[in-house]
Amino acid sequence: MSIAPPDLPITAAHHLPVLNWTHRLSQLGSRFFTPLHPTPLAAPAWAARNEDLRHQLGWPAAVFDEAHLQAFAGNALMQGSKPLATVYSGHQFGQWAGQLGDGRAICLGEAMSSQGPQEIQLKGAGRTPYSRGGDGRAVLRSSIREYLCSEAMHGLGIATTRALCLVASPEPVRRETIESAAVVARVAPSFLRFGHFEHFSAQGDLDSLRSLADHVIRHHLPDCQERAALWQGNVYAALLDVVQERTALMLAQWQAVGFCHGVMNTDNMSLLGLTIDYGPFQFMDGFDPSHICNHSDHQGRYAYGRQPNVAYWNLYCLAQALAPLIDDQELTLQVLEGYKTLFPRYLGDAMRAKLGLVGDLACESEREADWTLVEDVMQLMAAEKVNFTLFWRQLSQAVLLQSNATTLTDGGWRTVTDLVLDRPRLLNWLTRYTTRAGVANLSAMGQQMLRTNPKFVLRNHLAEIAIRQAKLGDFSEIETLHNLLKSPFDEHPGFEAYADLPPDWAGQLEISCSS
Ligand code: AMP
Ligand code: MG
Repeated sequence: MSIAPPDLPITAAHHLPVLNWTHRLSQLGSRFFTPLHPTPLAAPAWAARNEDLRHQLGWPAAVFDEAHLQAFAGNALMQGSKPLATVYSGHQFGQWAGQLGDGRAICLGEAMSSQGPQEIQLKGAGRTPYSRGGDGRAVLRSSIREYLCSEAMHGLGIATTRALCLVASPEPVRRETIESAAVVARVAPSFLRFGHFEHFSAQGDLDSLRSLADHVIRHHLPDCQERAALWQGNVYAALLDVVQERTALMLAQWQAVGFCHGVMNTDNMSLLGLTIDYGPFQFMDGFDPSHICNHSDHQGRYAYGRQPNVAYWNLYCLAQALAPLIDDQELTLQVLEGYKTLFPRYLGDAMRAKLGLVGDLACESEREADWTLVEDVMQLMAAEKVNFTLFWRQLSQAVLLQSNATTLTDGGWRTVTDLVLDRPRLLNWLTRYTTRAGVANLSAMGQQMLRTNPKFVLRNHLAEIAIRQAKLGDFSEIETLHNLLKSPFDEHPGFEAYADLPPDWAGQLEISCSS
């Protein structure tokens, strides 16, 4: 079967390369990837260009000219790029799935940037040797969701792969219905996953496993060298520890903003602790710990409340893959134990910050008392399925409002008590909360809470509106949402509706793995 299309032209308009490339990934050798070209895409048009990211990376404006539109569509090659698709394996929904790989993502290479080399991947750029039965394409709907959510997560301060631009095409793609194709150009220092290690470990290919680990340590996680001192000088144990630490932080941040990933398979877990592979994700509306955002996840394996444990399970898979390198079972298990204290600590800190409680704690019992406060309010929210984002934002505003009053009154909490039916229960909690916080601190706390609890998140129905308009050829709502979501803590006067409760029809939206 021939996968690679005929040679593509080099972006014609430029005699000099617009981006400078390095090809560290391809130095790993042919066992890790297949060189190939994207499949050309008919009649491409810009659906979004992320000028903020372009500036942050110090890339020239020419990156978004017409010649590059063709390159991001897969119809031309940027000078100096050497496209390839990598192979990985993984556990999907708790089962070993064997070989997977970049079935529709093509890496163009690593472009130098002011933040170090950045891998550019075209997602939806056509078939690869790892496509299995798939068509190698991505639909406009899911590509808009990935573009916006990458940037929303970045705006929230959560580590994520980024989205540089989005190209739409009228080319038909068959899913449950016929949809149209799109390509997201996504950017990250590396798209390597847990599944890359699982692949070579499962094959018993220790040379490749070691090369991969050394590559990751050298280019992406150099702090492993120092961390090895904590683990009997074992740099591979340190690698597991660093990945675990980053994963624990990411999970705590997801939980704190009510983010559900939806498909936490080990092939969707980044080695750099980046949120990766946006599919059926959701920012929860009504708070429900057992909320399942992925319509295809019948067992609720990836329900909101299970995410932290799933991450631990996935780290176990990574540990198993690294075991031949660490070569010390006792040590491996010791490293894994770390998650059990790290994650609760990160989550505790994140939730205390949501309450405006940021000062140092004198002792463990204070930490526990604060956690009880968090748990109690979460139980109250769950009992009534209170809108997660709205609750924290209104609480922040109420705290600020109360700080301006001469005395605290029940009425002063209106912005937040209006969200619940059981007001006495919430007022009782608010009394305990303000006693713990100290009335004198409310002003500073309120300010800090408004910088911690976002006003804007990518609610499903907001993405859906942008998708419906884009399908009619109007991409402007993508930009509107991007503008709000890149600074989600700002008020953005005039855009209050975007922070409101979802409309009734939002409850009917079904988001599945289909993308
Ligand atoms: P995901 O669930 O999106 O993380 O994808 C799981 C695996 O299926 C990965 O190896 C993807 O590259 C592959 N895949 C998903 N959709 C397609 C598609 N339309 N064509 C080819 N491969 C795909
Ligand atoms: Mg994936």
